[in-house]
Amino acid sequence: MSEIELPADHPRYASLLTRHRIEDGVEKGITSKQGLIAQGRGEAFDYLLGEQTIPSADRAERAAAAQLLLADHPVLSVNGNVAALVAPEIVDLAAAVDADIEVNLFNRTEKRMEAIAAHLREHGADAVKGLTADGRIPNLSHERAKVDADGIGAADVVVVPLEDGDRAEALADLDKTEIVIDLNPLSRSAQTAAIPIVDNIIRAVPTMTEHAEELHGSASETLNTIVDQFAASDALTAAEEAIRTGV
Ligand code: ATP
Repeated sequence: MSEIELPADHPRYASLLTRHRIEDGVEKGITSKQGLIAQGRGEAFDYLLGEQTIPSADRAERAAAAQLLLADHPVLSVNGNVAALVAPEIVDLAAAVDADIEVNLFNRTEKRMEAIAAHLREHGADAVKGLTADGRIPNLSHERAKVDADGIGAADVVVVPLEDGDRAEALADLDKTEIVIDLNPLSRSAQTAAIPIVDNIIRAVPTMTEHAEELHGSASETLNTIVDQFAASDALTAAEEAIRTGV
C-alpha cells in the first residue's frame, strides 16, 4: 500500500493516485475546483496515449533539459495542479538545472498563493517566487498578468506546465523560450511552445531531471545541437497521431 489505500500493482494505480493527489490539493486549498476539470481533460488524453511517455515526448524532455541547462535565468512556473501532483519533483528539477520556482495562478488569490508556496517549501524549495508580483505580462488582464519582475519577468527560459492557452500565448509573445507540458497536443499552450512536451507531468518532470543530470557538464555546442535538432511541429504531429491511431 502506498499514499492511498490501493495496491501499487492495481492496473489503474497511476491514474487513481493522480486523482487522489488533486482531490487532496483541493482539500488543502492548493488546487482550485477548475483544476479538477483540467485534470479530467488531461486524463482523457493520457488514456489515449496508453499512459506512457511516447518516444517523441522523451525527445522533447531531453531538448527541454538541454534548453534549461543553456539558460541564463530559467524559471519553473507552478500552479495548483502542478503543486498537488509533483511538488518534490519540481524541487528536484529546479536543483538539477539551477532554476527559480515561481507560483503563477490563473485564479490568483493571496491565500492560495501562500498555500502553494508553503507546500513547495515543505517539499524542500528554499526560495519560492510569485508573491511579490511587481512585474506584468503585457496583453493580459490585471490579476492574470502578475509575475515577479526578478522571476518570470526576467527569465529567458520558462517552463509552463498545464497552462491556460491565453497566458501561454502572452508569454510566448515576450522574448522568452517557452517549454510547455500539456497532454493535449491541440491546446494553444502546446501549439505556442518552443518545446511542447505532450506527456503527463507526473512522468515528464522526473524524466526531464534524469536528462538534465545526464547532460550536466556537457559542452554548450552539444546542448545547442540537441535543442536545434528538436522540431516542435514534428513532436506535436507524432503525439496527435499516437492519440488518434493508438500506435
Ligand atoms: P487551451 O490551451 O486550448 O486554451 P485551456 O486553456 O482550456 O486550453 P485548461 O483546461 O485550462 O486548458 O488547461 C489544462 C491543460 O492541461 C489541458 O490541455 C490538459 O490536457 C492539460 N493537463 C491536465 N492534467 C495534466 C497532467 N497531469 N499532465 C499534463 N497535462 C495535463
